Amino acid sequence: MWVREGECHQCGECCKTVNVTVVRDITLRQHGTIEELERYLKYRGIQLVGEDVDNNYLFYAIPIPCDQLTADNRCQVHATPDKPLLCLKYPSQPDDIEQCGYTFRRATVLDRVGS
Ligand code: SF4
Ligand code: SF4
Repeated sequence: MWVREGECHQCGECCKTVNVTVVRDITLRQHGTIEELERYLKYRGIQLVGEDVDNNYLFYAIPIPCDQLTADNRCQVHATPDKPLLCLKYPSQPDDIEQCGYTFRRATVLDRVGS
């Protein structure tokens, strides 16, 4: 379990790509090798950004910015009922966005007592 610290400083990075998790073994059966998969994805502008072999996942990033993101990195639906649930909760665990103003640490017993 993670404890989130810090705050959003509106870099907009989390709104510029769509991140997708796929099932690793099924995908590799279809494509044969990671290299073949990467070639196929590259032609479509999709990047293979990571894998979790133990949990059988592959992670894709698709560079499609959200159409609610303004040029100065503001969310046009922030604080409205139209903001997607995923965005309201983001980030709930460590992500790979270096610019993000949030950091995470593992929860301790003291955190659980205090909550
Ligand atoms: S809805 Fe807002 S917070 Fe969610 S991805 Fe779009 S701009 Fe970002
Ligand atoms: S990456 Fe982090 S700091 Fe940047 S807009 Fe998203 S939540 Fe905010």
